[in-house]
Amino acid sequence: MDLVIRSAELPKPGETVLANSSAEYCGGKGANQAVAAARAGGEVAMIGSVGRDAFADKLIQSLQRHNVDCEHVAQHADQPSGLAVISVNDRGQNSILVVPGANGSLTPDHVFAAKTVIQRCDVLLVQLEIPIETVVAGLEIAAESKCRIVVDPAPVPKDFPPKLFTADFLCPNESEATALTGQPINNVDDAKKAALILEKKGAQNIAITMGAQGTLLHTDNETHLIPAFPIRAVDSTAAGDAFAGALAVRWSQSNDLRSAIQFANAAGALAASAQGAQASMANRAAIESLVDQ
Ligand code: ADP
Repeated sequence: MDLVIRSAELPKPGETVLANSSAEYCGGKGANQAVAAARAGGEVAMIGSVGRDAFADKLIQSLQRHNVDCEHVAQHADQPSGLAVISVNDRGQNSILVVPGANGSLTPDHVFAAKTVIQRCDVLLVQLEIPIETVVAGLEIAAESKCRIVVDPAPVPKDFPPKLFTADFLCPNESEATALTGQPINNVDDAKKAALILEKKGAQNIAITMGAQGTLLHTDNETHLIPAFPIRAVDSTAAGDAFAGALAVRWSQSNDLRSAIQFANAAGALAASAQGAQASMANRAAIESLVDQ
């Protein structure tokens, strides 16, 4: 759950500040991407973990409202639901406290319990806000079936397991690509260099998302910049989640990577042109109509 608190100034240590407003937004990269994929036309099941608190009910209800199957969302009575407390001042600067809470209790056993779900799927889409061994367990099940694997390496952990590079699709944003390669990215040429390093590490298909510039796709020894759709940016929160969810859906339906990236770029642009995270995810008709413009 994202708790956003707005005040003129951010509190300094020891200080109490009267805030102007507070709002709750259902979030979490996994949940955002599940909603994005469902809105983009996918049939989606979520494997995740929440607490047994008031936030948990809201988080699960938001997924269910978007037709995401929550049978494998575990509830832990001894942990709070994952929480981000985001303070924003009048100048748009923020400070963020993240409590992983129940996300940290998602074990490989939870994933093994959902084995048949993964085996039935066309694509397993993972993010890294849960223990890394749990992610690896999912990858192992998917690798044994015909399920393609998309890894959104966010947030990048200190010990990034080399196994994750071997996913069918790796889709970092610029700062994640830099964290994974050591290559600073200030322009498209830098992104190409980073993509080549990722390829050497074992990545097959690589999409480096570059905000308003679009996405650099590296596949079959070829690199293409697939430009972003020009939009009026309002709030780029969860643009990357919209991108990942839409990419997973489109790629499960077609082998044409360039058109899958175009579709995902449109989903990212639409999310950036609306406020919020899950609330800003566009549906398939809106994504297709932007692609066709
Ligand atoms: P993240 O949120 O992970 O940093 P990006 O900001 O790179 O991810 O956004 C993901 C994708 O969404 C981009 O590749 C792009 O296609 C689209 N997008 C994001 N911001 C904009 C924008 N301001 N204008 C147009 N498209 C955008």
